[in-house]
Amino acid sequence: MTKQQLPVQKNEYVDVTFEDLTHDGAGVAKVEGFPIFVPNALPGERGKVKVMKVKKGYAFGRLEEIHEESQYRMTPPCPIYKECGGCQLQHLSYEGQLVFKQKQVKEVMARIGHLPDVPVHSVLGMNDPWRYRNKAQVPVGEREGGLIAGFYQQRSHEIIDMEACLIQQEKNDEIVQAVKEICGKYDIRAYDEQKHRGTLRHIMTRYGLVTGEAMVVLVTKTEELPHKNSIVQEIIEKFPQVKSIVQNVNSKRTNVIMGDKTNVLWGEEYIYDLIGDIKFAISARSFYQVNPKQTKVLYDKALEYAQLTGEETVIDAYCGIGTISLFLAQKAKKVYGVEIVPEAIEDAKRNAKLNGMTNVEFEVGEAERVIPDWYDKGIKADVIVVDPPRKGCDEALLQTIIDMKPKRVVYVSCNPATLARDLRILEDGGYKTVQVQPVDMFPHTLHVESVAVLQLKEDE
Ligand code: SAH
Repeated sequence: MTKQQLPVQKNEYVDVTFEDLTHDGAGVAKVEGFPIFVPNALPGERGKVKVMKVKKGYAFGRLEEIHEESQYRMTPPCPIYKECGGCQLQHLSYEGQLVFKQKQVKEVMARIGHLPDVPVHSVLGMNDPWRYRNKAQVPVGEREGGLIAGFYQQRSHEIIDMEACLIQQEKNDEIVQAVKEICGKYDIRAYDEQKHRGTLRHIMTRYGLVTGEAMVVLVTKTEELPHKNSIVQEIIEKFPQVKSIVQNVNSKRTNVIMGDKTNVLWGEEYIYDLIGDIKFAISARSFYQVNPKQTKVLYDKALEYAQLTGEETVIDAYCGIGTISLFLAQKAKKVYGVEIVPEAIEDAKRNAKLNGMTNVEFEVGEAERVIPDWYDKGIKADVIVVDPPRKGCDEALLQTIIDMKPKRVVYVSCNPATLARDLRILEDGGYKTVQVQPVDMFPHTLHVESVAVLQLKEDE
């Protein structure tokens, strides 16, 4: 078919009805079966669209007018929603977001996992889906000599000043504002990306939701930070919650926020927080879940799915700082955790000690190599928990699971598509997917987290 024969042409205006939402949040309408993707449009809406770009099998459009609004449409409460791009779903009510996320998981289960009948439960959402993030990291810039700190405008490296982020803990917003003012007062220069000059690159804060302890990290280009002591003094006078102020030095030309060197300027190297009954020590560079409230919901579900009685040997693959491992260790005989980042394993070991847990062991390495080694040494798990990055599990690991035959596999996933792909492999290897529970860890964004449980078939 030539371009002229396609149902829509570039710059043409069409009236359409939106049927669906893509996984990246665009509305989908069809003209004679030909899909048009339109940002900011919602399923059930009718509107006028300008066709912006036409490809062989689909087109992109811009929403010009809405003729009929979705029951789920709402005015984004954040004034910088469009410029920022950190959230993608604020024009959809929270109820609508949860409906969309469940549907998305159901669809990939059918399409990618060939599991059209697997139960996918309603998404476990937050009662109050705002102000949930416990970590802020904001780039610093200059405007007319003064410091600004906020976010990079979408698809650019221009920094826009920001006073509040509605998904951020208020305390983090307050601390960032104050640190910006204090550093401005002492004439600290912002880092200039283009010229690779200046001092302050990022302000980062972490806040322990349960403990109320806060950490401030000043990421600087240079080791030297003028008026260091006065800056520290002003921060601690203003915020008694701050227990740790550190400087991280990143002298490279890079988009990576933190460098390798961290100096404690004042107070402790760590702050503490709790998820459920488990305490975690968090340093400037530690990985720690950004929404601890929902992390608890997710891990409680994982623990429920693991059905531990106290007799089991459990493997936690991709264990990070041991968050899930320690949760499981409360109910298991023994837990083995494996993770590729050595610093995370150091944190995991420290956290085990901090909680007086002696029935966990951690090892650094690739899950797909370490677990077969364990198997060779006679370590056989009754339950395996995996929580891989977005790309999902390595095939070698899935094969090891299939060979090891644990009774249950609990799969925690931040990407429904790779979850569905891996569930199919495990199904073909002798497992049955019993149920899938999506949990909303990141309200107003497109992220969908799920936990699934599989049962060995010959065990039924
Ligand atoms: N379960 C942890 C973190 C999960 S994130 C928590 O909830 O805190 C996924 C983790 O997998 C990351 O820490 C990443 O470093 C690790 N990882 C990535 N590839 C890996 C591999 N091949 N083997 C082991 N760990 C890996």
